[in-house]
Amino acid sequence: MTPEEQRAELVASLEQRESLSQRTKDALLAVPRHEFVPEQHRSEAYRDRPLPIGDGQTISAPHMVAIMTELLELSQGERVLEIGTGCGYHAAVTAEVVGSENVYSVEYHDSLAERARGTLQALGYGDISVCAGDGKQGWPEQAPFDAIYLTCAAAEFPSPLREQLAAGGHLLGPVGDTQQILVRMTKTAENRFEREEHGYVRFVPLR
Ligand code: SAH
Repeated sequence: MTPEEQRAELVASLEQRESLSQRTKDALLAVPRHEFVPEQHRSEAYRDRPLPIGDGQTISAPHMVAIMTELLELSQGERVLEIGTGCGYHAAVTAEVVGSENVYSVEYHDSLAERARGTLQALGYGDISVCAGDGKQGWPEQAPFDAIYLTCAAAEFPSPLREQLAAGGHLLGPVGDTQQILVRMTKTAENRFEREEHGYVRFVPLR
């Protein structure tokens, strides 16, 4: 099977378990996940599971990327901040929805940030901005963002991220230590946050 056929099969199977919008499905169909995973895991790239990407980190399972893309309710042109670039796959999926120039991503490990930049550039996502640093600080120079998501788990959402979110936007990510809940906070016009929980999840910790 070609990678395109494998992606189509993966998306078809995800669709049986989750209700996915056309936008999310198109994004998952467009991004070549196999190009983001290390050589030795390429054959597993279209299984619905996380895979190691080096530095003790993992690329999220496709269903998790799909669910998060749905929950962010993004549209073309919205500006998005990701905390935890990893290999860059999730950022590329987000870029398919909002446009590469609107995606900003912070990665703690220099080596991963460097590699993600190279991969994204090679695959036509070079307009995504990747910076190596501590995501707990967000990216103040580029704020505000219409949406912010974390792909690593914190005890609570760091306050700079709450501040850098525009009114009406969603802040999404795993909250907790070993037992984590996917939490979506929506910032109201009065700068308050409405909190919703979206089930148990498992992510690497935020440093
Ligand atoms: N979105 C990624 C998933 C990466 S796993 C992908 O598609 O591959 C989570 C990532 O968060 C790891 O790469 C880890 O190094 C990073 N991370 C952990 N703590 C961080 C912090 N404080 N700031 C930025 N990134 C962090």
